[in-house]
Amino acid sequence: MTDEPSEKAADGISATVGRVAFEIERQLGLPLAPGLYLVATPIGHLADMTLRAIAILARADIVYCEDTRRSRTLLAHYAARTPLRPYHEHNAEEQRPRVLKELADGRVVALISDAGTPLISDPGFKLVREAAAAGHAVTAVPGPSAALAALTVAGLPTDAFFFAGFLPARGGARRSRLAELAAIPATLVFFEAPTRTADTLADLAAGLGNREAALARELTKLHEDVRRARLADLAQAFALAPPKGEVVIVVGPPEAGEVSDAEIAARLAPALETLSIRDASRLVAETLKVPKGRVYDVALGLKQRERS
Ligand code: SAM
Repeated sequence: MTDEPSEKAADGISATVGRVAFEIERQLGLPLAPGLYLVATPIGHLADMTLRAIAILARADIVYCEDTRRSRTLLAHYAARTPLRPYHEHNAEEQRPRVLKELADGRVVALISDAGTPLISDPGFKLVREAAAAGHAVTAVPGPSAALAALTVAGLPTDAFFFAGFLPARGGARRSRLAELAAIPATLVFFEAPTRTADTLADLAAGLGNREAALARELTKLHEDVRRARLADLAQAFALAPPKGEVVIVVGPPEAGEVSDAEIAARLAPALETLSIRDASRLVAETLKVPKGRVYDVALGLKQRERS
């Protein structure tokens, strides 16, 4: 990379600046129909705003967001002075009728989240459902999402993928969820908090098998980093020092010859009718040649489901 663009490159850059200015002006001048606009915003890099997203946030009558202080910084970066109002998991129930009334009054209402695409592990699902049911236009203004950004850099199959969001924090609910996910023939994408990452990687290795995986950290930011390794190796790498910043875990699909949790569960079910959890787990572990601890976890999950 050179520091100084050549004269020809500089000409090209100023032509690009002109085109971008032309396009944003055009977007700002287009008629904007009333309705609910779901606007994706950056997951780190402030320049990851589409021209259409900037224009809609600048021209909406109101922007609903999770954290008004945080979103004010984003809007200020693009000199948008649109009023901001909070819409988050703690006030969504009370705010929804108000938003629906604004839509009924013919307003242009935008919904954004703290980062990335609204509704993706973020508030908005019920609002979209109710706005659509009431006959209001609902429009996606697509852009960044940590899930897709991580999937694309992971180096794992992308032909079929399953967004699993955040796993249940712990215990039986987590084990049952992992048992369900283990059977899915697709790459899996998880969100996780950095402090929980090492435990989650270890649970994923136990619940899904030691599959190929990637840990994508601080995407689009200064310290962006992607580690590609098997789950158990990633778990070990982060056991002592949790990753800093935000992370997405991407796990490859089941591999040939790998025993799935669904298969373990199918063998366990009859064994558990006559044997204790411990004995049934030992028997199935020996038969399928998988670690006893993993079979025991699946058995606990089965028992838990039986009780609930
Ligand atoms: N709706 C957002 C989206 O579309 O990206 C995701 C919101 S969810 C509450 C937040 C999670 O997204 C974080 O815990 C982390 O797993 C992931 N995340 C957000 N920004 C990220 C980034 N820059 N790099 C890696 N992961 C990120």
